Amino acid sequence: MAMSYAIRRLRLIGRKFGRRDPLDERVRRTLVQSLYTQPVSMAIGLLVGVVSSGIAALVTGVVILDYACVILAMIAAGRVWLSVSVSPDDPRFSTHNLERLYALGAVSYALTLGLFAALAIVFESPPGVQALTLVNAIAYGVGVCARNAGRPAIALGQLSVSALPLTAAGLWVGTIAHVSLAISILLLVGAMASIVQHLFATLRGAIGAAETSAQLAEKMQLLARTDVVTGLFNRAGLNHAMGEKLLVPPKGKLLALFWLDLDRFKEVNDILGHPVGDRVLAEVARRLRESAPEGATMARFGGDEFIMFCHVASRPECERLAGRVLDHVTRPLRIDDERLEVPCSMGIAILPEDGADADSLMQAADLALYHAKIGGKNHSRFFEHSMSRNLMRRREIEAELRAAIQRDELSIFFQPIVDLESGRIRTFEALVRWFHPEKGELKPDEFIPVAEETGVIVTLGNWITAQAARTAVHWPDDVTLAVNLSPLQIKAPGAALGILSALREAGLDPSRLELEVTERLFLDDDQATANFINELSGAGVQFALDDFGTGYSSLGSINKFPFSKIKVDRSFVSGPNVGRKSEAIIRAVAEMGARLDMEIVAEGLETVDQVRAVRASGCTLGQGYYFSRAVPDYLAAMLLAQERSPVGMRASG
Ligand code: C2E
Ligand code: CA
Ligand code: CA
Repeated sequence: MAMSYAIRRLRLIGRKFGRRDPLDERVRRTLVQSLYTQPVSMAIGLLVGVVSSGIAALVTGVVILDYACVILAMIAAGRVWLSVSVSPDDPRFSTHNLERLYALGAVSYALTLGLFAALAIVFESPPGVQALTLVNAIAYGVGVCARNAGRPAIALGQLSVSALPLTAAGLWVGTIAHVSLAISILLLVGAMASIVQHLFATLRGAIGAAETSAQLAEKMQLLARTDVVTGLFNRAGLNHAMGEKLLVPPKGKLLALFWLDLDRFKEVNDILGHPVGDRVLAEVARRLRESAPEGATMARFGGDEFIMFCHVASRPECERLAGRVLDHVTRPLRIDDERLEVPCSMGIAILPEDGADADSLMQAADLALYHAKIGGKNHSRFFEHSMSRNLMRRREIEAELRAAIQRDELSIFFQPIVDLESGRIRTFEALVRWFHPEKGELKPDEFIPVAEETGVIVTLGNWITAQAARTAVHWPDDVTLAVNLSPLQIKAPGAALGILSALREAGLDPSRLELEVTERLFLDDDQATANFINELSGAGVQFALDDFGTGYSSLGSINKFPFSKIKVDRSFVSGPNVGRKSEAIIRAVAEMGARLDMEIVAEGLETVDQVRAVRASGCTLGQGYYFSRAVPDYLAAMLLAQERSPVGMRASG
């Protein structure tokens, strides 16, 4: 009964074990590994078994026991060799093979030990020898049961094959004492089966729980490093991945960091809504994945910024890769039948040339990206060391610009725009000047871009308009005021109203104000710009298209908005590239101006020859050092007074 119980239990456990549940492989591996722990205790056990069997064989003098002893010693030696030479952590050994190998040695050793003791009983060895071998076999069987509870089939197999030959021998001899011994052994096996199963369940549960929580922790960590919208890494994931890549510097390879920034993503979000925005981001991420080389790390870094980080063999390869990625990412995309353009700018920095660690590399790529953006967007720029120097100066300027207005360090100068026919001043262009207490006079080209970037331009621009208007009211009514307007000012809420109220406060008629805008304004073709221009021109304000010919020259914008003037950039008048071509361009623009009833201003006139040339080409107005530099308000007033006095100003060439 006890025997069949033990067998049933064994089967049950065996079946339970044969089943593969989700945890199985890793838990199983851990449990099998437990078989190979403590090789020293195993060796001691084996040695005790072999030595006591040897003594028993020697004392009994039965030949078969000698053979059994030799076999036992060989198996023991094999097992010791196995435990020394096989590492259970070695991935080359499958869990299955490790288990088989162990089971083979363990069961054959236990069987030989059991058979040895059974033979000692059957051959009626001296009682001391019988006791020695019996205790040896039973103690070994029970001992390994506890040791190998992690693999119950092996544990109970070992116990069974060491104990059952004894049961058989006891029944064979048949005395009451021997039969009782046989029954006790069977009961012992049954009891041990129950203990082993319990132990196994506890062990398995504990290891399973530890595994589950380890897996959970791994999953949580992965989640914490993933961007939900795109499935790419997020900032934390990027930092981690970059740290790992930088730990093992590539031999003979460079590490390149590509920083991408979608140029007009905010518009997509504002106009089409966040769900569409998210889909655009996901699509961009997909394209990035498609065009990235193998092994690249990709992340979304904040709203519409992406980073790709990978090994490259050379700079030219990096350039090709940048081109390929940018081409692929910026292909127009379709969402709900809506065709969307996704222009994108890219900054690139390379390790070790541009930075020695992750932080400096990021900084370099960020700077390169910034230059890509201000250089007209939708293209890529590699980092250059001069960018850092510019950045330092920009940072200083940024910090001081806000305070400069309050500290009265800014003032407005006026440069006349002259009628080329009569030589009379028709307009003064307001040009801002910053007299810095330490740095001296700062050029607007240096600080206006910083003001635009930081948003200070809105405050600064309003201040300039108001100041200039206050000066202009003192001029004769036929002299107008031109003020430069940056695109960012126009986009600020209430921009038109701000300008109108500045005029009202100063008491300047709106028709005496002329706003100079550049083609940059029409880069993003939005409604706010149109509203601004229409509102102000409705009130009588004039508009001039400044720096014509330098930027993105689209004749479309001339047609679209009510410009009264076009200012041909000074690079067409003076400078290294002036020649027949530029003359022809001025002539064409002047002709167009005459037809469309617009005045054409030639900028940058420095010599009398230039004045003659542009007048001959058909320009009606001129501005430049030949007439006057930008001067303070009192000098502007003097120029006007001089001109209107009977002596008059210098006549036009
Ligand atoms: P801009 O609007 O094209 O202004 C004309 C620039 O050309 C001025 O430089 C002026 O001093 C310079 N200039 C005039 N005549 C000549 C000449 O004969 N030869 C040469 N080489 N240069 C001449 P400035 O004052 O340094 O201004 C540079 C730019 O800064 C301006 O270009 C304008 O885009 C911007 N800016 C200046 N003041 C303001 C302002 O108050 N608001 C805004 N938003 N931008 C301003
Ligand atoms: Ca201007
Ligand atoms: Ca200009």
